[in-house]
Amino acid sequence: MRTIGMLFRASEILRKHRLQAFLSLLFLILLASGGFAEGVDLDESMIFDKNESYWAQFLPRVNPALDKNLSVDVAVIGGGYTGLSAAYHIKKSNPALEVVIFEAGRVGSGASGRHGGLVLAQTYSEGGFVMGANKAHHKEIYDITVAGMKRFKALAESSGIDPEFVLNGQSLGIFDRENLADFRQYAAAAREMGMPIEFWEREKAIGMLGSPGLLGAVYDPNGGMVNAGKLVAALKKLAEDAGVVIYENSTVWGYNEGKIIELPVVAKGNRYKVKAKSIVIAANAYAAATLNFLANDIEPAHTQVAVTAPLSEEQYRSLGWKDHIAWYDDQYAGTDSDATFHMIITKDRRIVIGGGSVEYNDDESLLYPGDLRTIEAQIAKRLSELYPSLKGIRIENTWNGIICETRSKSERIGITGRHKNIFYALGYNGGQGVNVSFLFGELISKLYNSERHKLLEIYTK
Ligand SMILES: Cc1cc2nc3c(=O)[nH]c(=O)nc-3n(C[C@H](O)[C@H](O)[C@H](O)COP(=O)(O)OP(=O)(O)OC[C@H]3O[C@@H](n4cnc5c(N)ncnc54)[C@H](O)[C@@H]3O)c2cc1C
Repeated sequence: MRTIGMLFRASEILRKHRLQAFLSLLFLILLASGGFAEGVDLDESMIFDKNESYWAQFLPRVNPALDKNLSVDVAVIGGGYTGLSAAYHIKKSNPALEVVIFEAGRVGSGASGRHGGLVLAQTYSEGGFVMGANKAHHKEIYDITVAGMKRFKALAESSGIDPEFVLNGQSLGIFDRENLADFRQYAAAAREMGMPIEFWEREKAIGMLGSPGLLGAVYDPNGGMVNAGKLVAALKKLAEDAGVVIYENSTVWGYNEGKIIELPVVAKGNRYKVKAKSIVIAANAYAAATLNFLANDIEPAHTQVAVTAPLSEEQYRSLGWKDHIAWYDDQYAGTDSDATFHMIITKDRRIVIGGGSVEYNDDESLLYPGDLRTIEAQIAKRLSELYPSLKGIRIENTWNGIICETRSKSERIGITGRHKNIFYALGYNGGQGVNVSFLFGELISKLYNSERHKLLEIYTK
């Protein structure tokens, strides 16, 4: 059965591991030569690209880059939702500590500022609308992630920046007849466990989501959508108001383990040494390439999203898409990939639609190797299949982003290092990453404070 747990997955695409092998070798050479302590000369332009997504216009003003050597209590590497959440929660629970974030680009440069806008319950490894790897914990993980998204919304809104966070549910639209029985069964089993999941028969599915080809749908009232850029801005403000210092355009190239960890940071072409009692690796798909962290498990994967021009009143009415429920399909129409398409409607009535493709690099770069015009045509085609009245609608922007897949097929969170002072959370494998990244950032703070949590028991085994 194809599910949201597989959102963005493309099992039949050839996996090519030359990048990992190249980077691992390079890191070994640099470590052996003490290169990291002096800063390294990896080519940043082969790793990071600019966030030119629709959401980028909502990102906050960029902070100054690091301009001095520094000693801090906690250095967080990466300014996406994971890093911002981890830094915020650690600082809130330990106000006396010096907590800093180093971000290679601007906060929200990575997946957090480029995603599809859907907010979903569950984790990737739990499988969304299937009982996943932790069957025994399915309801428990659901409840925790649902509580997490409500906390995320409330906290982000408390910043004074409206992140356009709407939690009115999410749906999986079924087009493949073979999937009907499985999803019907899932909805019944979930309800028996006390989860509010509904199965919508054809008429209701079409009545709610508007797409005439639907055969049914699964609906979860817990889920929704958000403005990616404004959410980054809200989290950044919260973290800074709490006292976290954020350096942007400041890239950490590796780290030297120890009781005090040394980080070589390159900012605006200058090299600085940062000493930290603890670090948090929140670098997501870039962690292998820039820090040689979990290089055997991380598989950076490219996926894309597009935004339409604002819909006219007539186009909008023609959709019959009630309450703007965020949804995704179970189809892979016209693509080589088994990734689903997913979509939301923004406040200004644009459709943000993404998915349908997952690609991997076969060289040492992390830059997107494909052709965005081809992807745009593919997305436009799928959109007009889903909503025939939108045939010919103008796509204003199509962009690429990198998700952090893992060969272990599981999220990764934990503490490592001889001195147990390296914390990490990454590898959300697409799908539920918006919600999970915030939650795992929060869990990092619990790990830091030696607190217990059910998800830590499950994911740090
Ligand atoms: C195109 C796309 C669509 C998606 N759609 C959805 C969706 O609709 N719903 C959903 O739930 N999830 C979605 N996801 C997944 C979700 O966006 C991610 O799982 C989540 O944002 C990950 O957050 P993060 O903070 O861990 O990583 P990121 O947001 O990638 O942040 C990592 C940050 O670390 C920085 N960095 C990396 N290395 C270094 C270094 N060495 N030094 C300094 N800084 C560094 C990067 O520049 C980046 O800003 C999508 C992802 C993509 C790419």
